[in-house]
Amino acid sequence: MSRTRERTIEPGGIGAGTPILFTREERLAREERELAPYAMRATRSRGRRHPEPEDRFRTVFERDRDRIIHSTAFRRLEYKTQVFVNHEGDYYRTRLTHTLEVLQVARSLACALGLHEALVEAIALAHDIGHPPFGHKGEEALDEKMTEHGGFRHNRQALRIVDLLENRRAAYPGLNLTAEVRESLLKGERKRAPEAAEFESHPQFLLEAQVVDAADETAYTNHDVDDGLKAEIFPEEALEPLAIWRRARRVAEGEASGSDPRMRVRRTVNALIKIMIGDLTEHSSRTIARLRLDSPEAGRDASETAIGHSPEIGAEVAELRAFLRKNFYEHYRVTRMMSKARRVLEALFDAYIANPRTLPPPFQEWTEKVGLERGACDYIAGMTDRFARDEYRRLLDPLERA
Ligand code: MG
Repeated sequence: MSRTRERTIEPGGIGAGTPILFTREERLAREERELAPYAMRATRSRGRRHPEPEDRFRTVFERDRDRIIHSTAFRRLEYKTQVFVNHEGDYYRTRLTHTLEVLQVARSLACALGLHEALVEAIALAHDIGHPPFGHKGEEALDEKMTEHGGFRHNRQALRIVDLLENRRAAYPGLNLTAEVRESLLKGERKRAPEAAEFESHPQFLLEAQVVDAADETAYTNHDVDDGLKAEIFPEEALEPLAIWRRARRVAEGEASGSDPRMRVRRTVNALIKIMIGDLTEHSSRTIARLRLDSPEAGRDASETAIGHSPEIGAEVAELRAFLRKNFYEHYRVTRMMSKARRVLEALFDAYIANPRTLPPPFQEWTEKVGLERGACDYIAGMTDRFARDEYRRLLDPLERA
């Protein structure tokens, strides 16, 4: 600790010419000093399945975050659907841009609440890597096909990816992430999934995982309003009856956004996300105090989720979510895209099962280890939207080159 104090930069404390290196030890000491008592700390990690030497500069959670960014599954998020199928337009969110928005919201919350930023970043960046092509419809299609073989859920798939499917070392499969990140990826599947057996059961997630969950909802609620308006799935007037939209518009009007209606909508969407983040931050801070959380374990064992909206804003967000379900996710244009997408995945699955030799050789080998259905499912789940469509043509259109 004393060495750390010497190196701390006070105003004018370290002059030019003094080499500055914040090693891992110093970062760990900084975590101890600066994070809230209920924040997770890298020193308290339960570690990795395959022990490895520590990095000179980065803490375990920083390394997890970096491994996720360099993974194949993370890069593929660029070509996976959020709501709109990837090729439908260049303006809409993909899973990659959605993930970056989740990261932004989660970091805002984590910084304000004194939580572990790098852990939050790692969980946020990986939170959607288990999604198959074509979003939730793709997930439904695979889950149905896998009914007799253990089912398919994107959260469990995220864990399969980081534990088994990514390749970065000869010694073991996967990214070898810390238990904290791995467990957080299972989210709602924590209690049911067989993979969850290795994790201790607590009523709540780590606060850092709760932050990502809240950030996920905040990000998609806001960008779906934005994309829905942009794609003219619903007009601005349709949002008028919603209390939270009127609340956001009052904020936007207060800042003189000019007479351009598009700018007014843009400012209103911006106010909407600000309202949601502000409420999450302040209400969570009050809840944490009320629950007297004084350690990461206290957060996990609390009787309620500490990160969340106030009852008032929570109800308004729920109203907006109900609006989006009805007017966006179930809109006929989205439904048409999705039913086509679903057929593509079903047909691919059936084709691989009917003739496993149509799978690429590494996946033929993989099916010998994990079973034909699970192996084919892993292969399909890893595809991007575009790859799945091309593969459909190659495999099933007799006039197309194989
Ligand atoms: Mg998400």
